[in-house]
Amino acid sequence: MSKSTYQDALSRLESTAAAAGTSPEVVESLRHPKSILSTTLSVRMDDGRMRYFPAYRCHYNNILGPSKGGIRFHPAVDQDEVTALALWMTIKCAVLGLPYGGGKGGVQVDPKRLTPMELERLSRHYMRSMADFIGPELDIPAPDVNTNARIMGWMLSEYEVIHKRRTPAVITGKPICLGGSEGREEATGRGAFHCVEALLKRIGRNASEMTVAIQGFGNAGQHIAQLLQDVGCTIVAISDSRGGIYSSSGFDTYSIAREKERSRIVRGVYCDKSVCEAVPHEQISNEELLALDVDLLIPAALDGVIHRGNADSVRADYILEVANGPVRADAEDILMNKGVVIVPDVLVNAGGVTVSYFEWVQNRQGYPWDLSTVRSRLESHMITAFDEVWNEAEQRRCTLRDAAYALALRRIELSMKSLGTQEYFQNGE
Ligand code: GLU
Repeated sequence: MSKSTYQDALSRLESTAAAAGTSPEVVESLRHPKSILSTTLSVRMDDGRMRYFPAYRCHYNNILGPSKGGIRFHPAVDQDEVTALALWMTIKCAVLGLPYGGGKGGVQVDPKRLTPMELERLSRHYMRSMADFIGPELDIPAPDVNTNARIMGWMLSEYEVIHKRRTPAVITGKPICLGGSEGREEATGRGAFHCVEALLKRIGRNASEMTVAIQGFGNAGQHIAQLLQDVGCTIVAISDSRGGIYSSSGFDTYSIAREKERSRIVRGVYCDKSVCEAVPHEQISNEELLALDVDLLIPAALDGVIHRGNADSVRADYILEVANGPVRADAEDILMNKGVVIVPDVLVNAGGVTVSYFEWVQNRQGYPWDLSTVRSRLESHMITAFDEVWNEAEQRRCTLRDAAYALALRRIELSMKSLGTQEYFQNGE
């Protein structure tokens, strides 16, 4: 039987911790989620029926600060996946040096099948069920797969009704007029883009010689596609959950984003103002996209898409993990032996939580920053983290993922040691 996502995440944690020489007490503490709230949301549909949706929120660890992480709406959400995602958030926040622990939430639902009013009721009900489990100093949610600024706005409004006070810092990724931050929407894609820039510098290659395939054309996938196109990369393939498109001469990703906004489908088109025309291309499946011979493969959708079963067919030189957990731990050796370099999720997609942190700071200060301040601070956070991870990997001759985990574990270890671990109580160290 294949491992669950959380078991997979734990085995990766254990092997990287062993290689990094992390104290066993620290590793043991990270093997246990702090608390998980599991509930069922009963939501009245527009036709009068009541429907029931499993919902979760996990505070994985809070040694570095309140737990932080998104809420996803997806049919595959379950407690195991939410727990794995919350563990990854713990590592991610520590890699970026943010004053947060890790958390995550989710609802098992296909939001595309709900009407806007049903979606509002579901979102408000989620916050109503979690209102004592969430708070600006306790646990701060944000958008994730299939959730967005409007949904964060509904959740904020529900929280404020319950607690009878304005509390913008309770949730990030809100609409800007409700206290959201400039630049939050683009932040995950932009942060990942800074990682590509830093990577190209390290490997001595130009953007204009890079071919790119992107799996997943949601918020993060669209932003990174456009930023990479702007610096001259050729985006040869794009897909969403329904399938993908391929053209060796590359696509205009702005046109494809516009068409997707209009029709909800990824189509091979070029748009001149409002007129879009088909461009020559092939239809491909998601599996075919993952096996393309490109320089850079960007999984930007869901976890577990590259696994033991298909890792051998990957032909890309670099994988940039914009999604959380797209490469299963058991596929990693296969990829490494083929010489594929993985730039890991806990670094690559951390732009989102970094600007969430900026948003929380702005809310607490009551002083909004302008877009150029957000962008330049994001860039410096991402480049600093990338360089730290790269240097660690070079020094220890390990993978970038092992290096990122080692950095994160060291930061968590330092905090735990300041309160005393077994070494201190036994030997005074
Ligand atoms: N859901 C995003 C992530 O996985 C953002 C989390 C946040 O902003 O708190 O990193």
